Amino acid sequence: MIKVVKFGGSSLASAEQFAKAGKIIQADKERRYVVPSAPGKRNAKDTKVTDMLYACYDLVEAGEDFRVPLMKIKDRYDTIINGLNLRLSLEEEFQKISEQFKCGAGQDYAASRGEYLNGIVMAGFLGYEFVDAAEVIFFDEDGNFDADRTNQVLAKRLSGIERAVIPGFYGSAPDGTIRTFSRGGSDITGSIVARAVRASCYENWTDVSGFLIADPRIIKDPQTIKTITYRELRELSYMGASVLHEDAVFPVRKAGIPINIRNTNAPEDEGTWIVESTCQQSKYTITGIAGKKGFVSVSIDKDMMNAEVGFGRKVLSAFEENEISFEHMPSGIDTMTIFVHQPEFEGKEQAVISAIHRLAQPDSIELEGDLALIAVVGRGMKSTRGTAGRIFSALAHANINVKMIDQGSSELNIIIGVSNADFENAIRAVYDIFVETQI
Ligand code: ASP
Repeated sequence: MIKVVKFGGSSLASAEQFAKAGKIIQADKERRYVVPSAPGKRNAKDTKVTDMLYACYDLVEAGEDFRVPLMKIKDRYDTIINGLNLRLSLEEEFQKISEQFKCGAGQDYAASRGEYLNGIVMAGFLGYEFVDAAEVIFFDEDGNFDADRTNQVLAKRLSGIERAVIPGFYGSAPDGTIRTFSRGGSDITGSIVARAVRASCYENWTDVSGFLIADPRIIKDPQTIKTITYRELRELSYMGASVLHEDAVFPVRKAGIPINIRNTNAPEDEGTWIVESTCQQSKYTITGIAGKKGFVSVSIDKDMMNAEVGFGRKVLSAFEENEISFEHMPSGIDTMTIFVHQPEFEGKEQAVISAIHRLAQPDSIELEGDLALIAVVGRGMKSTRGTAGRIFSALAHANINVKMIDQGSSELNIIIGVSNADFENAIRAVYDIFVETQI
């Protein structure tokens, strides 16, 4: 069995962190392929190497001297190399980078060097082979990731290598230039490698012990989610919960490989398993809670709306004309409500109102701003009665006025609309009723 392990920036920010990662890798022979990020922050005030590289390349583009900032980046690596007592010099590599910068190698090239160099250090430290991601991860002419070509080449290349380090975050375009994924993209590389080697598991090592049921800025010491399905994860990530890059799910999901989120600083913690499906019920009826502030509800009233074929389409065309996408659309017999993002909507509100009048001739339109949406997500809700009722009564006890409630037909989530001011209290009330009281 093969495991692919990806380490995030904070897990590789210093020699001490590198040593922890090394211990983890050596503790399990199946951990054969390693995907490192660039060194991240060592403390709250520190700067990620990726950000240092972007800033350095800004100087190149502005025609200014970039040597000092580039040497500061080299210092970050040298501190790690010396701290690990490695006999490794990145002198020539930095010479090359400096030359490439002068030739205008591009922002993506600049940013990718963080992972590239960290890959070299990691390979030296572990005694594993280094495989440059530019040779095995491909993008097409339009800058989109080329999954098929990558999988073919990468699978073939790694089938001949027992243990390897493949840096995260970048690959190459058809003309050989370097391309990166969006920020946090090393997660995607790890997933791509796991698919290519048909790993039994993709371990993603970070600085938290998995996904939390709710945001720790709102709930003190929330519990960790043990197992979450890809679909639940998507619902929660969409509503703002983040640990993993959203696109990291696709390659492994295709191959039915589970992801295990682990904590480099607490390797004994089991972390969170992200799986396609499971018959294990979660400990609580709900799996997680997430939410976002800053929505507007647009309520449209028209008598006999229910009998008018095409009404909904006409209303939605008014939003389409103004290039606004909607989030939710609960409806009644004579009313429908559309939830949209406030910042996107604000400048266009009058244009939307007049478009709805022109296209759908409603009786009235009412707007309400400063709303928040909260998603209560859980595969367990399907087989439990009274979930919505419990949410309602918890919110009522907390004196929170519920503006909207919308249960997806998959019974995987319930969306609650409250005013921005009630957002935190609403999350606390829902967390308490399902988790603290343990029902
Ligand atoms: N180093 C890149 C970033 O900071 C990619 C990653 O860490 O996943 O976004």
